[in-house]
Amino acid sequence: MARKNKSHPADESVHPLPSHPPEQGPHPSLEPILDENLDTLSALQLVDLLTQFYPLDSPRRIELGYLRRRIEELEVLNDQARQAVEKLDAAVTKLTSPANRVGTLLNLPKPDTALIVNGGTEFYCSIDPRLAQSKLLVGTRVLLNEAYVVIGDLGFETGGPVAKIQDLLPDGRLRVGQEGGLANTLVLRSAGLGKEKLKPGLEVRLDSSQRVALEVVAGAQARDHLLEQVPELPWEKVGGQDEARQAVRDAVELPLLHADLFKSYQHTSPKGILLYGPPGCGKTLLGKATAYNLTRQLRERTGVDHREYFMHVKGPEILNMWVGESERQVRELFARAREKAKEGFLPFIFIDEAESILGTRRAGRTSGILNTLVPMFCAEMDGIESLQQMVIILASNRADMIDPAILRPGRIDRKIKVSRPTRQGSEEIYRIYLTPNLPLDPELLREQGDDRQKAVDAIIAKVIDAQFSRREDNRFLEVTLRSGRHEYLHRGDLVSGAIIAGIVERAKETAIKRAIASPEPTGLSIGDFIAALDVEYKQNDIFPPNDITEDWLKLVDYDPENVVKLSPVKPRRTEASAII
Ligand code: ADP
Repeated sequence: MARKNKSHPADESVHPLPSHPPEQGPHPSLEPILDENLDTLSALQLVDLLTQFYPLDSPRRIELGYLRRRIEELEVLNDQARQAVEKLDAAVTKLTSPANRVGTLLNLPKPDTALIVNGGTEFYCSIDPRLAQSKLLVGTRVLLNEAYVVIGDLGFETGGPVAKIQDLLPDGRLRVGQEGGLANTLVLRSAGLGKEKLKPGLEVRLDSSQRVALEVVAGAQARDHLLEQVPELPWEKVGGQDEARQAVRDAVELPLLHADLFKSYQHTSPKGILLYGPPGCGKTLLGKATAYNLTRQLRERTGVDHREYFMHVKGPEILNMWVGESERQVRELFARAREKAKEGFLPFIFIDEAESILGTRRAGRTSGILNTLVPMFCAEMDGIESLQQMVIILASNRADMIDPAILRPGRIDRKIKVSRPTRQGSEEIYRIYLTPNLPLDPELLREQGDDRQKAVDAIIAKVIDAQFSRREDNRFLEVTLRSGRHEYLHRGDLVSGAIIAGIVERAKETAIKRAIASPEPTGLSIGDFIAALDVEYKQNDIFPPNDITEDWLKLVDYDPENVVKLSPVKPRRTEASAII
């Protein structure tokens, strides 16, 4: 029978058969033809061959016709079955074949060849010619078959470790490191990063083999929560504090603006300053004014567009119960300042309540972590070459608690006292916030001959008198000294820039409310200020909210050793009446 039944119906061109006119009757010798062609004939061809050997009117022809039709049907069925088997075969192959490896493309060293890293090992692989090689990008994930031939392109990974750029190499590679500056690695740029403008400090996502930087990730900005805007703050906007202002300028401005001169005299310039004094007296303000004025002068002097980068850190916020976390934050703070310096900023690190993290053991509550933070801070400071790189400003109400190691020459050896404003200083501060261009009480103006400056002078003179008088009802705090002596501190003794700014704000609020309520022209009056003075001292949080001795001692200028007891004369909170 037919062994080959691939084609149907009979394909004469494939199997040319000797033609035999039917009218001549059956072929005298069919056998030799069959012998020669049997292997190549399909069943249908065989039937057709046989049919030809019967005369046209032979009943055999009709019978063979039936046979032909049946074979035809079977062949169709056969074909369908073969297709089904082929499909199943393909499915079985798919299900039983091993998984493909996935690697990262590092390079295309020559046509049809790729350098791939897979599981830390590099492979020099051929590329399946069916793949469009021009579409393969450095950093992309590729599919490898068992022979490590690149057979597919999976695009870039979407996850992976994040690292910070430390440096850009001239050949385009990047030096990156994880947070804290540990474990630096050199990585390639992915095709996507090829043209991107990168700079140290940006964070990039690496592929999982950590060989290629794939994309810049946002997030560097997230830590900018420490960044504080420095407003326009010429020195004139800091009232009083002449000595402190001068000291700051000597300690920071001169070495920075005359760096060469200081170098020629081999003078070790400090890395920053410590501002100490009671709360609300302008330590932060001085810090920001330093930043503002210094960058402005540097700009003028060098012509380079210097900008300040003012990081305001509150000491207690750095304290963290987790071992090493506080250290990490300090390290990051300095790292960030260094990055910013590289970007052309003049970074300032302002640490408020510095005694909480840089205090001696005596600083109590936080002594557990001081041992590591102080030496670390010193080491970071020693790594700073000049003020040009960054300026560190510590602020504290308790300079006596700052660890002396921090205050050595070459570190922060300038302790600058920011005292409570004197009467004269207070006047200057009032003048900063109460200016003649504000709406003033019409009656007061009339009294002063419509001279706005004189009207302002009159308000300030009256409010200062009231604030600094040593009347009994101005008594504020009773101090009992070790000698047994009692002393009273009056409102004027506890004045601060913050209180003065607060009084002016309150007086403005009263005047605004009056202006809203009445159609008559109105403006700031002496009465508004006197009332505001009273309320400010009664409502302002001048007293610490708890009875922690250290907090209370921050209020006064007395040597803590000499004070036995501090008690408010008009306690707002009775429970805080005796603290030491
Ligand atoms: P500190 O840091 O010493 O606690 P701040 O500098 O934060 O005090 O002062 C709080 C606010 O008080 C300032 O924002 C400013 O409005 C006002 N202030 C304090 N001192 C002065 C000053 N010498 N001149 C002008 N304003 C001042």
